[in-house]
Amino acid sequence: MNAIKCPLCGGVHSKLAFRVGDVRVQRGGKTFDYYRCADCTATFIHPFPDYAALEDFYGEEYFAPQALAPTERTLSFFQTVKKAFGIGSAFDNLFYKERKKIFSAPGGNFLDVGCATGMQNIRLMREFPSWHFYGVEPDEFAFQQAKQLPNFHVTKGFLQDAHFPDDFFDVILVNQVLEHTEDPLAVLTECRRILKSGGKLIVAVPDKNSLSGRAFGKRWYNVDAPRHLWQFNKKSLQILADKANLRVTAFRREHLHGSFIKSALIMFGIAPDRFDRSVPLLFVKNITKPINFGGGLFMITTK
Ligand SMILES: [Zn+2]
Repeated sequence: MNAIKCPLCGGVHSKLAFRVGDVRVQRGGKTFDYYRCADCTATFIHPFPDYAALEDFYGEEYFAPQALAPTERTLSFFQTVKKAFGIGSAFDNLFYKERKKIFSAPGGNFLDVGCATGMQNIRLMREFPSWHFYGVEPDEFAFQQAKQLPNFHVTKGFLQDAHFPDDFFDVILVNQVLEHTEDPLAVLTECRRILKSGGKLIVAVPDKNSLSGRAFGKRWYNVDAPRHLWQFNKKSLQILADKANLRVTAFRREHLHGSFIKSALIMFGIAPDRFDRSVPLLFVKNITKPINFGGGLFMITTK
């Protein structure tokens, strides 16, 4: 049998890591093989499914929970819970927590790559009205939702289809998106082209080397076959940044809320998104947050 070449580093020492099906959208039926590269330590799906086949695994069922949350009411509910129990908001990731530093200079250009429904930008747009917010999203359902947001400039398609000018953006966010792309190096290279010199490119991915990533293996929620074509860790992200000629200024780990609990649901054969809108699950996600099972990895880079 011919060795399978790693699409990230070109190494030829990849081995079958696991075989798994879609436990979220299609559920049951087709399975997918993931290989782990011994050289760069990335894990990747093989063979890569073509995009036409992948469309069936996205769509409304995948994006609808994001279209619904966070609404004004749920946000104010969690602000109240946060105050009452002194715990973090259910929707604040590291990027949002550091927003005042990130958006410190007025009037910049911000791009959300793979913005989905765009909803995560609402609070930022309100808080930093002098900034210009852009998004790119290939999924039709998510794009239609994002298009309705006032002052949000969204383009349908992949990043390379948007043809932004050189040196245009002050900040680019690629949040839980890189693992969905067939060619992550091409995405980062394009990000570098459209990023201003001294600008910030922030990449957030599920971290295969996190406690939950290691503990749950193929039942890890963030395997998310076949939508996640990759599983990255610090080492493989660093290799990607080097290849894209980006300078890494920091790596940060954070608790990817829901990942641990949803992985546990998968272990018991329960559809992991089933309780997404239930207040008890959101509450459990919140109270388990300080335990920090990890799961999320941020790479902050500059040009
Ligand atoms: Zn490799």
